[in-house]
Amino acid sequence: MSLIVQKFGGTSVADPQKILGAARKAIRAAQSGNQVVVVVSAMGKTTDHLIALANEITDRPNSREMDTLMSSGEQITIALMAIALESLGYRAVSMTGAQIGIKTDNTHTKARIKSISTDSMRRALDAGRIVIAAGFQGINDDGDITTLGRGGSDTSAVALAAALGADECEIYTDVDGVYTTDPRILPEARKVSQISYDEMLELASLGAGVMHSRSIEFAKKFGVTVHVRSSFSDTDGTLIVATPESDMPVAGCAVARNEARLTLVGVPDKPGNAMWLFSRIAEAKIATDMIVQNIGLEGRTDISFTVPATDLNATLDVLNLVTTEIGAERVDYQEKAAKVSAVGLGMESQSGVAEKMFRAISTKGINISMITTSEIKISALVDLDDAAETLRAIHSTFNLQKAPEKLNKPEIKTTQSINKAELNIARLSGMEDIIIESINLDRTQARITLPEVPDKPGIAADMFERIASAGIVVDMIVQSCGREGKAMISFTIPRIVLDKATIVSNELANEWNAAPAQFNPKVAILTVRGTGLRSHTGLAYRMFKTLADGNINVNVISTSERSISITIDDALGENGLQLLKKEFVTEMM
Ligand code: ASP
Ligand code: MG
Repeated sequence: MSLIVQKFGGTSVADPQKILGAARKAIRAAQSGNQVVVVVSAMGKTTDHLIALANEITDRPNSREMDTLMSSGEQITIALMAIALESLGYRAVSMTGAQIGIKTDNTHTKARIKSISTDSMRRALDAGRIVIAAGFQGINDDGDITTLGRGGSDTSAVALAAALGADECEIYTDVDGVYTTDPRILPEARKVSQISYDEMLELASLGAGVMHSRSIEFAKKFGVTVHVRSSFSDTDGTLIVATPESDMPVAGCAVARNEARLTLVGVPDKPGNAMWLFSRIAEAKIATDMIVQNIGLEGRTDISFTVPATDLNATLDVLNLVTTEIGAERVDYQEKAAKVSAVGLGMESQSGVAEKMFRAISTKGINISMITTSEIKISALVDLDDAAETLRAIHSTFNLQKAPEKLNKPEIKTTQSINKAELNIARLSGMEDIIIESINLDRTQARITLPEVPDKPGIAADMFERIASAGIVVDMIVQSCGREGKAMISFTIPRIVLDKATIVSNELANEWNAAPAQFNPKVAILTVRGTGLRSHTGLAYRMFKTLADGNINVNVISTSERSISITIDDALGENGLQLLKKEFVTEMM
């Protein structure tokens, strides 16, 4: 018998009528011969209201009590949903996280699932009941209620689907699928029929908002077919599966608006300093997003990164401490920034994407303050005020409003012959652990750095258009934050075109009256790629610590939601690779 998990978000269960509507969807699934598990969020804005209540009492409520408070929202919905199903003549049973046996760690308000017991759900399903599970919550080893972080019901749903070996996990929401970008910001955004886990992971963690990124990490890890669709219609939504919709270079773009950028200026450029900084950040359980370090000049380097704007003050505390600990010069920050990114699996095999994106942004007169790239994503940090305009420019330059000509057929789900439930349970012990998909060493690249380019619109566009028109394909691009009107751009290129690229770079440096290009003819690029990096604060720290312990100095750092890349001297590459492989041996797939 097939099993389907349906998740209804807050807007889909906002009032009793909507709860009845959701109940009817569950009944329809049951009538088509499925066992059904329904995962629900709190009704409407309940969670916000609960938090506001606590904040009326104090702005530092105890986090254990916050979890007890916040989890009550979902408890209301499960009961009402079960009542709705019974009223419609169906047998249902509501279950809290504790009743199911969703075990988490102790990190109140952002706990991680450690294991899920499927026994009680199975018994109810086999007795012909529809199981109504409370999203967002679990219990720790002491039996205390924990919650998974805002938006965590998606994670609950996908995790239950994985644990139960469900055939599909339907995410019912107030949008009818995944769009090329947020349609509330750009009405011309287009609904895609299908999107790959990797693209969705980048988009979700970028703040695309449709789904909690940890839920997609789960889905990818366990191969759960996710179907995002509307609660208020029956049209097909978007399938999130392993393969992309088309072979266009860009599948979507997104903006993460609530970023704060911090820079530790004048960090002594020696092994261990980046490690120390990120160990302090990890200790404070702050999730860093974009990390950028450029090459050192006169023995000093700047390290910039972004954090959620709400973590700005906590991060400043950490940085002030670290400044004295490692003898950095000072801390600089930008309170209101937005990261705008273009994402597409097709970028891996097609060139010309970066310069097109930078040109589109500069044509609007918008300045880029930081750039990072990964195989399937290019991100630019801009002023918060320029966020929507930047997004629009990217969306239209890649023609995302138009359906691609060649559609891949969505994958047909085949039922596995092995007992999936058993398999999944066996693998559940470290369910939310990081999975490292690969650790790569690339010894084909050279690095060019323009240390002092003007910090104004159009510089990156000019730079990469010129490089591209010389027939040179750029791999990694890092632009670090400008200070005193200057920015630093580093990029890597195949070693054999170094001379050509240096000439072009120096021509530009001349035109800009900037310092000449510096280069390293042989760099090694080490990339750690995987699932769960963004939500594991300590990963960057472990990577930097491993290299620092091996006395390897990191020159350039660039991160994305799915990877961390660094450049080091070529001679140290092999050693660095072995050290990282050893460090992450237990997390390797
Ligand atoms: N009710 C929780 C929240 O608002 C969890 C969820 O809706 O996913 O964050
Ligand atoms: Mg939600």
